[in-house]
Amino acid sequence: MAGTTNTFEMAQAQFDRVADMLQLDSEVREMLRWPLREFSFRIPVRMDNGTIRVFQGFRVQHNDARGPNKGGIRFHPAETIDTVRALATWMTWKCAVVDIPLGGGKGGVIIDPATLSIGEKERLVRKYVQIMFKNLGPRQDVPAPDVGTTPQMMGWMMDEYSKLAGQFTPGVITGKPVGNGGSLGRTEATGFGVIYTVREALKHLQLDPKTCTAAIQGFGNVAQYAAIGFIESLGGTVVCVSYWDRDDRASYTVTKNDGIDPHFLMSITDQYGSINKAKAQEAGYVIESGDAWITKDVDVLIPAALEGQINADSVQKISQKVKVIAEGANGPTTPDADKILTERGIFMIPDFLCNAGGVTVSYFEGVQNDMNFYWTKEEVIAREDEKMTSAFNAVLAMSLKEKVYMRDAAYMVAIARVVKAMELRGWI
Ligand code: GLU
Repeated sequence: MAGTTNTFEMAQAQFDRVADMLQLDSEVREMLRWPLREFSFRIPVRMDNGTIRVFQGFRVQHNDARGPNKGGIRFHPAETIDTVRALATWMTWKCAVVDIPLGGGKGGVIIDPATLSIGEKERLVRKYVQIMFKNLGPRQDVPAPDVGTTPQMMGWMMDEYSKLAGQFTPGVITGKPVGNGGSLGRTEATGFGVIYTVREALKHLQLDPKTCTAAIQGFGNVAQYAAIGFIESLGGTVVCVSYWDRDDRASYTVTKNDGIDPHFLMSITDQYGSINKAKAQEAGYVIESGDAWITKDVDVLIPAALEGQINADSVQKISQKVKVIAEGANGPTTPDADKILTERGIFMIPDFLCNAGGVTVSYFEGVQNDMNFYWTKEEVIAREDEKMTSAFNAVLAMSLKEKVYMRDAAYMVAIARVVKAMELRGWI
């Protein structure tokens, strides 16, 4: 459905396009176009002032043919059942493309977490687990952090699940704090994974990363470690990041043409991602409008915020210099914009490949929980790099062989694996 701004219709349109190319049977399509299970529920929480506030929660399990459902829980004021459906669907493709034995799921709560106290957040996430208890579990559905949720919240959720199960069950959730069943390297995993795929793309395009520049949208967990990786491991220059300013209720791009210092910017960013503008300006950064990032004359664009950011309008602002788009966010590009990017020949590293490093290390976290034996950070990072590099190269090989856009190639690889698992299990 070209022109749609509904995230789930976008995910379905991407799937339908490749389902046509693969000439998938209608039964198979029906199984994969929609989630297998959906939960929509009310979450009553006692607030600090003694009143009860009722939140809307969701958990969607898209497909578990390849293993337990896997995917984060997002706290966002604009969450809907359709955003969660789309994100759950993308998790199925994400786990399949990196070939980890997990399916796709996603959760959400309609809430701006910055409006809650620590105690309110704890009561909310514990209630979420109480309501979903029977349908979560290390062999059923394993949540993780996403936009608006944190390792601390995962720790509380693991504790609540363990209490209800009557036994310590760290494998029910990933992204837990280190020392509480969490894995070293999980915090950095998504952003670093983005950069492993960028490194491979630049290699393929025969570009020297040391001479390359990047513009990043966002300055949350993914954007921060993507910036660090692009600068410290590839030797490139990041000219800007962007963020949502809570006080001004507006987004800004924070620019330094000779290169931003992500560590400095992190030191002046609050827990909800707002950068201190005055301190940035004092240090020589220029504050520009929120969409300035997309107009930059850079080699690599990294949208690492929310869905739908590169659309029919904003795609027109992308500079002729841009050679690679690395989708750190889930669903940042609409099908309309995809069409234009393909025509322009920009090399696309699609979201569910580009940002799969997070769930890859989540999988390693579950493996370590099962073994009750923990790896060093170096071991985690080396294994993540290996997984991401081989996934990238499998998708690139498919794209070259079938002469298709990288997003379509990633779908081809992922869909084939999920269909195979459904066949082997006798579902279709
Ligand atoms: N929320 C992350 C994602 O979209 C990580 C999911 C996970 O670790 O399960 O990929």
